[in-house]
Amino acid sequence: MYEILISLCLLEDPGVCRQQLLPGHETRTEQECVERKDNLSAGAFSFDETKYRTTGAVCAFSDAGLPLQQVAEGIYVHTGAVAEPDHVNGGDIANLGFVVGEESIAVIDAGGSRAVGEAFYRAIRSVSSLPISHLVLTHVHPDHLFGASVFAEAGATVIGHPNLERALRDREESYLLTFETDVGKPGFLGTDTDFTASFQSEIDLGGRVLELVSWPVAHSTTDLTVWDSSTETLFAGDLVFDRHIPVLDGSLKGWLQTLDQIEEMGPAKVVPGHGAPVMASAAAIAPVRAYLELVNTDTRASLEAGERMSDAVGTIGLAQGGQWELFEVYNARNATVAFTELEWE
Ligand SMILES: [Zn+2]
Repeated sequence: MYEILISLCLLEDPGVCRQQLLPGHETRTEQECVERKDNLSAGAFSFDETKYRTTGAVCAFSDAGLPLQQVAEGIYVHTGAVAEPDHVNGGDIANLGFVVGEESIAVIDAGGSRAVGEAFYRAIRSVSSLPISHLVLTHVHPDHLFGASVFAEAGATVIGHPNLERALRDREESYLLTFETDVGKPGFLGTDTDFTASFQSEIDLGGRVLELVSWPVAHSTTDLTVWDSSTETLFAGDLVFDRHIPVLDGSLKGWLQTLDQIEEMGPAKVVPGHGAPVMASAAAIAPVRAYLELVNTDTRASLEAGERMSDAVGTIGLAQGGQWELFEVYNARNATVAFTELEWE
């Protein structure tokens, strides 16, 4: 497959360049690609001229993109690294999935940079040439969301929790700065949040309907799950973590209640936001619940003992220190969120 790439360089740092995919123009032969490229309207070429300059477009043979695993009939998952974003993983640290219907495809999460989104787009194209009708964002965190503009440009309707749009606009500036520093300028080049998300409760892919649920504050203020009834598969986003320590950016009590409700849905398979591509429901949910309950118990004990937060965060959750990766990075932060929440009960 051939694709059109646009060479973009940073105006403020002209040595930093990247070949950015123009999605939706894939062709079988190079000649078809060149014809398409030469006939592109000026609008198809649009980019932020206050940030980038271009040296034009080229046709190139596309690679297969990110590795995938099929986890159920018509459902594929790419597993991100269990790591913090850095120059090596380029922000490819969250699980990304897609569901193929008879008429179109829904993508669930888009990766932590434009480049990751493009590589995921290529992977999807290696499986199916059906139109990508929807992109569902499971929540506002950048590792799941920064590849979104690729799919929006390809014509997908972007769907998120009713709170997502506002949360994104509140946080986008700091998220973009932080991730650019973590991933590095060349890998992050072209990443933007120039799309609009809205909520809908159902997606019809032709012969396959996905149901979306927006949850009260739990892992974040914007958690959304995707349910495929034909395979009883639940895309849990970051309501379920595997290997990677659960990260609390919402409400401890809300998250525990949400886990109960997810369990009641009775999924046969759960796709976690981080870790394994797919898990059985009990194996997926129980460890997250055990960690959150430990944080709950420890935090209440600290509050009852009248400890100060600065002392308490050094002890809360420690009994599970050996069970999760990135524990040192996130546990104290989780304890701080839990302490602040429960202190005001
Ligand atoms: Zn998250």
